Amino acid sequence: MKSIFEKIINREIPAEILWEDEVCIVIKDIEPQAPFHCLVIPKRKIERIALAVESDGKTIGHLLIIARQMATDHNLDSGFRIVINNGAEGGESVPHLHVHVLGGRQMKWPPG
Ligand code: AMP
Repeated sequence: MKSIFEKIINREIPAEILWEDEVCIVIKDIEPQAPFHCLVIPKRKIERIALAVESDGKTIGHLLIIARQMATDHNLDSGFRIVINNGAEGGESVPHLHVHVLGGRQMKWPPG
């Protein structure tokens, strides 16, 4: 079954797209948890970070570089947070790897 993010990548459902290249797409999160909240999503589906293998390393590295670029482009100079939720207890709700980039407010630690 196609994930909601595959449907967004295929333009079957709409999303606010901030960036796209051959490896990934970046969309605004539909339920933002900070003034800036986007998701960096690989086009080639990796279900979750727990299932990533050595050969996924280049893709995952690219996701982090684009996450950093989003923070720069959106002036998150005073700080930002990158999050990957994994599995039910990790808070994952969409089974298609995605990197959250959050910023624009003071982050707390430990996270909820
Ligand atoms: P996670 O809980 O880590 O799996 O994150 C999934 C994220 O996807 C959540 O923050 C949701 O708000 C977001 N999300 C779900 N559906 C959409 C959508 N159609 N467009 C944009 N973001 C979405």
